[in-house]
Amino acid sequence: MDTSIQYLPGVGPKRAELLQSELGISTVGDLVRLYPFRYIDRSVIVRIADVQPELAQVQVKATVFKVRLFAKNGAELPPEKLKYNAVSRLSAIVSDGTGEMEMVFFKGVKWMHERLRPGSTFIFFGKPTVFGNRINMVHPEVDAPDSGTSGVLTGVYPSTEKLKNAGITGKVMVRMMSAALAEVLPTVQETLPEYVLKEKGLVPLTYALRQIHFPQDQQALGKASYRLKFEELFLLQLSLLKQKYIRSRNAVGFKMEAVGEAFNACYKALPYDLTGAQKRVIREIREDMRSGHQMNRLLQGDVGSGKTMVAVLSALIAVGNGYQACIMAPTEVLAQQHYANISKYLKPTGVRAALLTGTTTAARRREIHAGLEDGSIGILIGTHALIEDTVNFRALGLAIIDEQHRFGVEQRARLWNKGYMQIPPHVLVMTATPIPRTLAMTLYGDLDVSVIDEMPPGRKPVTTLCVGEGKRHAMHNFIRDEIAKGRQAFIVYPLIFESEKLDYKNLELGYEEIVKAFPLPQYKVAIVHGQQSAQEKAFNMDAFVAGRANILVSTTVIEVGVDVPNASVMVIESAERFGLSQLHQLRGRVGRGAERSYCILMKGNKVSKESQKRLDLLVATENGFELAEEDMKLRGPGDLEGTMQSGLPISLNIASLAKDGLILNDARGYAAHILDLDPMLVSPANASLAAELKKDKYQSRDYSRIS
Ligand code: ADP
Ligand code: MG
Repeated sequence: MDTSIQYLPGVGPKRAELLQSELGISTVGDLVRLYPFRYIDRSVIVRIADVQPELAQVQVKATVFKVRLFAKNGAELPPEKLKYNAVSRLSAIVSDGTGEMEMVFFKGVKWMHERLRPGSTFIFFGKPTVFGNRINMVHPEVDAPDSGTSGVLTGVYPSTEKLKNAGITGKVMVRMMSAALAEVLPTVQETLPEYVLKEKGLVPLTYALRQIHFPQDQQALGKASYRLKFEELFLLQLSLLKQKYIRSRNAVGFKMEAVGEAFNACYKALPYDLTGAQKRVIREIREDMRSGHQMNRLLQGDVGSGKTMVAVLSALIAVGNGYQACIMAPTEVLAQQHYANISKYLKPTGVRAALLTGTTTAARRREIHAGLEDGSIGILIGTHALIEDTVNFRALGLAIIDEQHRFGVEQRARLWNKGYMQIPPHVLVMTATPIPRTLAMTLYGDLDVSVIDEMPPGRKPVTTLCVGEGKRHAMHNFIRDEIAKGRQAFIVYPLIFESEKLDYKNLELGYEEIVKAFPLPQYKVAIVHGQQSAQEKAFNMDAFVAGRANILVSTTVIEVGVDVPNASVMVIESAERFGLSQLHQLRGRVGRGAERSYCILMKGNKVSKESQKRLDLLVATENGFELAEEDMKLRGPGDLEGTMQSGLPISLNIASLAKDGLILNDARGYAAHILDLDPMLVSPANASLAAELKKDKYQSRDYSRIS
């Protein structure tokens, strides 16, 4: 398994190095775990008359009847005085009796010219394309008709331009794989215990490896692929769950037994009933906080699902037990809004809250520091200013992080050190970016996850429209009608990179246009963007929140959390430039009041197919989890927003989180079952599992990344 691939026939040190840098493969063991991403059925020969340019790759059996050589300038070179280095292109016209096709070569011309003798028959394999009005193939694989390729299904392996240029073609890959298997299979160690194979009806590893590379038929391939997918997901879940088990056993946390007076006072005074989901989540958090182990919980809830209330009540549990809590928001605006909202909820409790951000004055700061140290401030709300070293709590028992505000390692350490008597605070991370269940299980497999999957009553659906430039005038009229009804509107511009001049220009032009279309004194337009000072931002934001401005033009700074129930229109400019979850977040800013709300997606003239799909999805559904699932199918889990920075804990070679949810569920349940019986995997029957989890790829993960 550990033999370097450079000793395989036809590899050598150069190619070995390339395989390492391009695909991360250095040993034969790595190589046999590089699986084909699809298979070509070499038993099927297509008639030329049936070849379609949109077919992926096809195989035709045809006879050469005319070969011509062309120079760079396109002139045909007469075969009499042939100099191969003057040739830039070889064209062979072939026929199978049903039609003709052209085979084109730009490289290896001499060899092909000698081989493709008129009258001789070959199997050509490649991707058909249309050139002019004829179908051709560029650089097809050329085989003698009786060469009899090994199996019926031939694997196609991941490759790169560099590998192809170094001559590592599909065929070469197949040959390497065959040699590697011959080396590996006799000694390969089964990774799964005998009883697992039996209970789950899985084929052995040797069989699976052989069949995944050289399947004898579809059925064998199916069994092999199932076994390998299960193995991959199962081992990953096993490592995550084992880690979680160890952590929850070892992490000492504050034991908060009581619910407390403050919680009850707040609860009684709530202007509404909590939703069932809010109640359930608060129970889950309460159980964690009284368990004596440190809580490390992720709270997922769609925009508007009422996470703030959950945060407040959790913070009050900490306060009721004699500890303090902090709530950290990603932006100043959001921290202020939280502070205003939360202060209202705290009135009946007598608990003191304070707001600490980058703009807090030095004098106020001193007061806050004193209040935190003597314990008179129960709840501190702020931006990441609140984890600075100068901020010392008397007894911080709970840290709440809103809107997936991720920390680096150092910041995390600071937060954990702000606990009391060397015990870290309980941690609750709240996110409105819905993550598909399968992904959450994998990304946060070692965390506890709570989901608020129910919206507060009375939320009106948001009507979503997607329109082009031609409707701009109508859009303005529509906003005028809504303003006439006393409503307000958001207009959001993309600002993908904060520094992009062009984006700012769009924003400014857009603002000017809006001010012209909505002139003073009848209308007031506020503007908020990242290049303003904190005061300017706050001034404009306040004007909109208080209803003094009818329209807020902004970049995505309003994306997270801002609550203006009177706003009924969200216009998103160049909507095709936003990601799906970002669009969803923005849309969530409206539909919070009693009025009917609208989201208008303005799209540009050039919208790619994929972007159009995103926009269509958004028009079709308002359910954030559904959107996240669809987004994952569109783009694959690695690219999902919110996971990009963190990435998957392990790259999956064969299983797909988007497609193999059922296998994942089964594998996770089974892993939990095994750990129930043998938490540390010490039983001899589980020796292979224990050995497997010692491998590097299961060690390198940073499990506490979430906070
Ligand atoms: P988010 O999950 O996006 O942070 P918020 O906590 O801001 O959502 O809540 C959105 C709105 O719903 C707020 O105006 C809040 O007062 C209201 N709300 C929260 N919980 C309930 C409930 N159980 N019933 C009615 N309204 C609620
Ligand atoms: Mg919120």
